[in-house]
This record gives sequence, C-alpha cells and structure tokens, in this order.
Amino acid sequence: MNYIIFDLEWNQAGEKKAEHPDLTFEIIEIGAVKLSEDGKLLGEFQRLIRPVVYKELFYRTREVVGISEEELEQGECFEDVFEEFLEWCGEEYCFCTWGAMDLTELQKNMDYHKMENPFPLPLYYYDVQKLYSLEFEDGKTRRSLEYAIEQLLIIKNQPFHRALSDAYYTAMVFLALDRAEVSKMVSVDYHQVPKTRKEEIYIVFDQYSKFVSREFESKEQAMEDKGVTSTVCYKCRRSIRRKVQWFSDYGRNYYSLSYCPVHGWLKGKIRMRKTGDQGHVFAIKTLKLVDEMEAKKVIDRKEELQNRRRERRNKE
Ligand SMILES: [Zn+2]
Repeated sequence: MNYIIFDLEWNQAGEKKAEHPDLTFEIIEIGAVKLSEDGKLLGEFQRLIRPVVYKELFYRTREVVGISEEELEQGECFEDVFEEFLEWCGEEYCFCTWGAMDLTELQKNMDYHKMENPFPLPLYYYDVQKLYSLEFEDGKTRRSLEYAIEQLLIIKNQPFHRALSDAYYTAMVFLALDRAEVSKMVSVDYHQVPKTRKEEIYIVFDQYSKFVSREFESKEQAMEDKGVTSTVCYKCRRSIRRKVQWFSDYGRNYYSLSYCPVHGWLKGKIRMRKTGDQGHVFAIKTLKLVDEMEAKKVIDRKEELQNRRRERRNKE
C-alpha cells in the first residue's frame, strides 16, 4: 500500500452574497506526492484547474497562493483532473493530508460536478496535522504546516501555499513521525455518511472506540437508537450498565458514564453532526476508559447542569 499525500488550493467568492450555495471553495490546484510504505518517493502530481464557479480570484487566494487568472485559464476542468489524479493514485493507497479539510473539500467539489464518489466507506486517512500534535505537542493544538516544518528543522526551499510544495512538506512531516504510532491513529472521513445500519462504522483504537451512525431525522431520533446509545467496553466487549445516563451539554454533545467490572470507568461522548439534509444528523460516539478523576468530572458536570436548570426554573 502506498501513501498519497495531497494538498489543494482553492478559490472562493469575494463576498458572502456571491457565494454559490453548493460550493463554498472551488478547487483550483491539486498537488500530491506518492510514497511507498517504507517512505520512498515514487512520484508527484500537480495540475491546475480552470474554475467554473468563481472565475475571478479572491484577493487572498491571489496573494497567498500566487496563481494568476491567466495561468488558471490554462488549467483543465475539474472532472478531467480528478480522473487523472485517481488513476495516478493507483490501486492500493491511503490518503494523508494536513488537517481534515482537504478531503472534505475534494468530495464537495466532486459532488458539485455530480461525479460518483469512488472512495470506500469508511474512508480512512492520516491527518498529519493531528499526528504532529499527538507526537510533538499536546494532541489538541493545531499548528500551521510552516510551523511544523520549522520545528522539525526541515529546510524550507520551496514557497508555501502551492499545492505540490505543501504536499511535499506534509510528506516530510509525515516521514518524521513514529510510524508504529501512526498506524494506530488513523482518521475516518465523515463526508459520506453511512446510509444503512450495516454501513455504520465501529473502530477500536488502543485508548478508545469510535462509532459513526447512519443518518437520522433529528438528534432526538438518533438518541432513541440502541446502536447510538449503547455502551460496550471496547476491551472486553461487555455491554455495561450506565451509572450516568446520556445527558446533553447545551450544545450538540452528549455525555455518559458506565462502569465495566473488569476495566473500570467508561466515559461516553456523542457528537451530533448535521448532514446536508435539512435538520438531519448523524452521531459520532467515542467511548474511552478513564480514571476515577475523569469519571468524577462527568458526574460533577451533570450535577452542575441540573443545578443551573433548577435555578432557571425557580426564577421563572
Ligand atoms: Zn471491560
């Protein structure tokens, strides 16, 4: 299996009201490098795309990316470039990108052009920005690619913000990571939401498990689904009793706390994500074994929310 490290440049509307409802970011360049499993450079890909939605370059795009409208006129159409790109990717590969946005935008552009999505479900990829943070920082901070390159003392011999050079830099950061750790930290792309119960995703990592549900009409409906709310210990696969039932934390997140007789406290978190359909959602559930202190935080949080609700009711 090869690694395809890719990067996109895109253009957008000059002002909000000129924005196309189905396409916020129009891809104008795809750059990529191909690495073998042991890190050898196997090839590179670079194409300009002639925009059809936003033909005028947004001033920030012009400044940051440094592509002119004349150059873009020479580009090919998105459909052709994407087909070429897919062919160049080959049979067995895994995508790597800086952050999660490029893979989403790539698929949004495919949708806009009414192209069939050829990617498998679930689509796994490596988010090098996240991996960099996990290995060198706190796992939560998100840095710019240039920052990571400087920290790793990688020579900056190409300007940033062109698709191919950014793909190269991302590849260099990727190669600086501990490969054994990387393979445990694969990400899942959420652009294609599972359509049926059978397509729902369940992955067990070293330190947590992740579940991605199919689409529901509302979050209330999602919370009635056993698959969404079940709390199974990912170490021993026991379905375990909840000590704290799922409760909502104002926004879109739900939390719970369960106790496995063998493995201890299991903290649950459900994030509701909107799909393109009006008001529809899908749920991303993570279950994580935690220590006593983390468990207590969940209990405290629930009490705090209840108290606040009670206070509000008393005021009314
Ligand atoms: Zn267990």
